[in-house]
Amino acid sequence: MLEGHAVNASDPPAVALEPSASSVQEHLFPTLTDAQVARIAAHGRRRAVARGDVLVDVAAKVVPFFVVVEGEIEVLRPSRGTETLIVTHRRGQFSGEGTMITGRRSLARIRVSEPGEVIELDREQLLALIQTDAELSEILMRAFILRRVELIARGLGDVVLIGSAHCAGTLRVKEFLTRNGHPYAYVDLDHDAEAQDLLDRFQVSARDVPVLICRGDAVLRNPSNQRIADCLGFNPAIDTAQLRDVVIVGAGPAGLSAAVYGASEGLDVLVFELNAPGGQAGSSSRIENYLGFPTGISGLELTARAYAQAQKFGAQIMIAKGAAKLTCNRKPYAVQIDDGQRVLTRALIIATGAEYRRPPFENAMQFEGAGLYYGATPMEAQLCVDEEVIVVGGGNSAGQAAVFLAQSVKHVHMMVRAEVLADSMSRYLIRRIEDNPGITLHTRAEIVGLEGERHLERVRWRDNRNAAVETYDIRHVFMMTGAAPNTQWLEQCVALDDKGFIKTGPELTPDDLVTAGWPLTRPPYLLETSLPGVFAVGDVRGGNIKRVASAVGEGSIAIAFVHQVLHQ
Ligand SMILES: Cc1cc2nc3c(=O)[nH]c(=O)nc-3n(C[C@H](O)[C@H](O)[C@H](O)COP(=O)(O)OP(=O)(O)OC[C@H]3O[C@@H](n4cnc5c(N)ncnc54)[C@H](O)[C@@H]3O)c2cc1C
Repeated sequence: MLEGHAVNASDPPAVALEPSASSVQEHLFPTLTDAQVARIAAHGRRRAVARGDVLVDVAAKVVPFFVVVEGEIEVLRPSRGTETLIVTHRRGQFSGEGTMITGRRSLARIRVSEPGEVIELDREQLLALIQTDAELSEILMRAFILRRVELIARGLGDVVLIGSAHCAGTLRVKEFLTRNGHPYAYVDLDHDAEAQDLLDRFQVSARDVPVLICRGDAVLRNPSNQRIADCLGFNPAIDTAQLRDVVIVGAGPAGLSAAVYGASEGLDVLVFELNAPGGQAGSSSRIENYLGFPTGISGLELTARAYAQAQKFGAQIMIAKGAAKLTCNRKPYAVQIDDGQRVLTRALIIATGAEYRRPPFENAMQFEGAGLYYGATPMEAQLCVDEEVIVVGGGNSAGQAAVFLAQSVKHVHMMVRAEVLADSMSRYLIRRIEDNPGITLHTRAEIVGLEGERHLERVRWRDNRNAAVETYDIRHVFMMTGAAPNTQWLEQCVALDDKGFIKTGPELTPDDLVTAGWPLTRPPYLLETSLPGVFAVGDVRGGNIKRVASAVGEGSIAIAFVHQVLHQ
């Protein structure tokens, strides 16, 4: 009845371009040499273990790492009184998966099946090993990531999601779990006759959908992302008494890059992310222009790697915790998050990006995730297989979405208000759109109405050449029409341009600085806002380039200036 949910399972990260099945297996469960085991032993402690000892239990908050020196340990997934054997580790093999890096609760039980000896490292000792031993870092990180991908592919998590393709909440929860790399099993109410039994067992009605069964017992009805993060223990407690070197707000490419550079250069880094790591880039189906990925890479995979990388260096990343207010009239600055907690920091990097503009119709919200989408990933694509879709917009993201969707849908109608596609669209995309018989470009056209009940059923669109309005039975619209910056939480703290983006460095005029009360004799650094020690990077910054590469570059540049601010 349960369907395993796969995310890029056929495209495992950080391995050779086309690994053979046996090489993937070797990377998943490598056997370390005696010399490698000895290097690990220097970071931890040896301990004797007896048959039946439980080394880690499911949902444990503290999850040590084990290398088998002698004997055998089993990794098991308990569920309703039974146990599924996931793998047995023998001499030279080691325990652990993505949880070792994220510091989240254990998804499995580890029990000794043959007595012997293990080496045990706590998470801090493991992170220290990974940061200092390049060879072991590669072996361990690759195994952890591949094992997490395997768990996702087999749906071997501690979460069951019961939902419907016609429900926006289901899409939101799926996206949240997927972008957090959390394995889950999915029960589709529309196609699964036995699903009602499952609902009855937990006394939930179809109105409560989506329902999330968290760690086998808690039944969450249409939960918020924050509630899911709390239930699954995504976030450690925040030490609000600690003064941070740098707080980063937003974990898109710009914020994750700042976290990687900051943490790897010894800064104490705390990141707040309103939703899930990855930002807009996380919803990109394929990024083909990011340096070093000649065959392209999905935004989800790129940002998942960056997330793991930042945590490997010790950055603390809080998920589903948004910044709600900045206290900027005294130092150190205080960032208040949406649950009321306040954190003090000596420097701040604002990387909150931008959000897609919504269509100007009163009923637009009711179709979000139920026919109206702002990103085109495999998740949305599978909802419109063999149906006609509309992609609105003439820029690069609209072009990418059209080309990507054309592979699986019946036909793509690409709609722009202008006479032609945007000047900013890459030449390669324009060629692909023109050459693709599955895409029709409608210029000087616009949507004037959306119709439907629970799901979008029809679209009214106007041809602005003759003002004729027609209604089409099209159930899926992808809005790719530009974005507005996420700066509401900053109130009056930093100078903004006329579109609400944050002004930085040379963009700040003498008048801006006088108005802001700039107190220093030096001018603002590149990427520094009108508030000393506060930087803005990526798509939230005035004059940004709207590229992953520029967001990543700006994140690293800001860290270089944070060092200078901290030394002043
Ligand atoms: C569908 C799509 C395809 C794209 N394709 C490409 C491409 O092929 N190549 C390319 O170079 N670029 C591409 N882009 C553009 C690129 O993704 C963006 O330029 C880039 O993601 C900007 O990064 P960022 O970190 O500045 O902002 P974002 O990616 O917008 O990330 C900002 C993050 O901040 C979080 N946030 C917002 N407010 C708060 C708050 N108050 N507290 C805490 N967190 C908050 C958000 O949840 C988000 O995770 C694409 C964009 C889209 C949408």
